[in-house]
Amino acid sequence: MAQHPAPTALRPVSEHQRRIADLLGLLTPTRVAPAEARGLVLAEPVTAPEELPSFDNSAMDGYAVRAVDVAGASEAAPVRLPVAADIPAGAGIGVLEPGTAHRIMTGAPLPRGADAVVEVERTDAGTDVVTVSAAREPGSFIRTAGSDVTAGTEVLPAGTLVGAAQIGLLAALGVRAVVVRPRPRVLVCSTGSELTDDPVPAAGQIRDSNSHMLAAAVEDAGAVAIRRLWVADDVPTFLSTLDAELEAGVDLVLTSGGVSAGAYEVVKDALAPRGVEFTKVALQPGMPQGSGTYGEAAVVCLPGNPVSSLVSFEVFVRPALRASYGHPRPHRPIVRAALTEAITSPGGKRQLRRGRLDAVAGAVRPWGPPGSGFLGWMAGADCLIDVPEDVTELAGGDPVDVWDLTSWGRPATRSGGS
Ligand code: AMP
Ligand code: MG
Repeated sequence: MAQHPAPTALRPVSEHQRRIADLLGLLTPTRVAPAEARGLVLAEPVTAPEELPSFDNSAMDGYAVRAVDVAGASEAAPVRLPVAADIPAGAGIGVLEPGTAHRIMTGAPLPRGADAVVEVERTDAGTDVVTVSAAREPGSFIRTAGSDVTAGTEVLPAGTLVGAAQIGLLAALGVRAVVVRPRPRVLVCSTGSELTDDPVPAAGQIRDSNSHMLAAAVEDAGAVAIRRLWVADDVPTFLSTLDAELEAGVDLVLTSGGVSAGAYEVVKDALAPRGVEFTKVALQPGMPQGSGTYGEAAVVCLPGNPVSSLVSFEVFVRPALRASYGHPRPHRPIVRAALTEAITSPGGKRQLRRGRLDAVAGAVRPWGPPGSGFLGWMAGADCLIDVPEDVTELAGGDPVDVWDLTSWGRPATRSGGS
């Protein structure tokens, strides 16, 4: 018991979240091509340089006419008009003489003089002479210039998350560049002399999973993992590696391992004397945490156990990364669901248990043991069950907050639990 600090010595999760978000801050906006803005957020609004559609065009395949020339048309008393022209999409703008029709395709420009389109379904589809069996009001089936977007209006306000529809609109308007906050550049660094990339690890060695996992999580958060590496538990090697890598320009150094209370804690040994703060956060898993700056970069030091690493990335790093480029929803969506079975949680620590959510039934099933060494279970989970600091026991049926992690892909079958 003696080596465990009293719960009051632990930093609340929300306080450490704020500290990490403050460390990263807001990145400076930059100008990029629309395709590169996908998943990013506009830092400046986009004003339409022109109107959409840019010319009056047909909303249907049919016949461009003067409404007055088909005014009396009906099934019983159809009107026959000579077809004076054929207008495919992409044609130039023609002129319709009174008493004639032009066969027109969807999106093709309305000829001057025409004020209505009769759908092909209400005609005999004639090519020389067309028989029209319905009257149409002026304006029928015409998309008028500017009816979608007016030139000079703000079509995309600052703060818009750029996705497929926005990229489509920018392309339609001929906008070649937009101003967004850039993707944060993250250096992902695993530490540990036991780690290897060797396909067949020697006795006592393990494969480095954290750098692969955290690089994926970084990219999933909309940031760029500019480098992924691991270094042995050796302070001079660790520091010289960081110094070399930082020359490329890095917003965040994200380390894993070497932050707890044992010997050979390389990250702590190297960075604590250089102003990085190492602290214990009231979180399970993920209690030992480091944060600060090194050179120009923010530094976040996560614990080495893979589950602790990924859960603390979720809690502290993902929201801070997303906030740094202005994402309107930095946090995972939280849903309320009923536990399928009882769980316990340590007093004085916020517990984030892995779970599987059945959002339709509003039920969440604890998935695997609470310990930090169960990466296999974590890989089968699709949510985190958030148990508050002061709660030590929950019964089956109790409601809990659940962080929906489904951007990792929800498993197809959720019913049987296997
Ligand atoms: P540490 O925080 O360095 O004491 O590591 C805690 C535990 O996590 C140890 O069992 C490590 O072997 C393991 N670990 C640390 N880093 C990694 C990594 N990159 N990949 C897989 N396991 C790791
Ligand atoms: Mg280690």
